[in-house]
Amino acid sequence: MSNKNVLGAVAAEVIVCTKCDLWKGRVKAVPGVGSPESQVLLIGEAPGQAEDLRGEPFVGAAGKLLDALLSETGFSRAGVFITNVVKCRPPRNREPKPHEIEMCAPYLNRQIDIIKPRFIVTLGNHSTAYIFSKARLPFRSITQARGKVHETSILGLKVAVFPTFHPAAALYSAQYKKQLEEDFHRLRDELLKRGLVSPSIS
Ligand code: URA
Ligand code: SF4
Repeated sequence: MSNKNVLGAVAAEVIVCTKCDLWKGRVKAVPGVGSPESQVLLIGEAPGQAEDLRGEPFVGAAGKLLDALLSETGFSRAGVFITNVVKCRPPRNREPKPHEIEMCAPYLNRQIDIIKPRFIVTLGNHSTAYIFSKARLPFRSITQARGKVHETSILGLKVAVFPTFHPAAALYSAQYKKQLEEDFHRLRDELLKRGLVSPSIS
């Protein structure tokens, strides 16, 4: 089966999932979007309201900023794969609880196993903490981990992990926005170095 079909099978399970209570408040679950063959995977936290209505990750205000940052790296949304640690919207956009992450993360693990990305960008605390735990890397804070490549292995896969702030944080803090932009510049350099983005796009 192609990556597209296997990912589609994961998405079909997510859409009807009732493993944690978040299913009760959802309009649509948000399995993830993008290229099933992408070497670059972006992981956010959980859907917000706009995402819950559309069934697609990062389509609200934070998503607009993410699209702009992505295009600076030479990628579009269609050229990467974007998902979240938790696939259903938490009530009033509260942070996901450890139990919800534990219940939902196996879907993310399967997506990683299918896509086999060479590069993972974690957006914010929760996705960074989760991926670092899978990599058995110590995680102190997003502030310490952000903006650099952590070469590691996850689920038997050699991968470069690049954490940065969550784009939603940059919507209310000019300081975070500046740092997020700096991180995406560094991200572009790292992707170029690895031949994961074409220099002709610059
Ligand atoms: N924030 C996230 O972490 N994920 C989304 O999909 C949207 C906003
Ligand atoms: Fe299932 Fe994840 Fe939705 Fe919980 S958040 S119901 S585990 S898909």
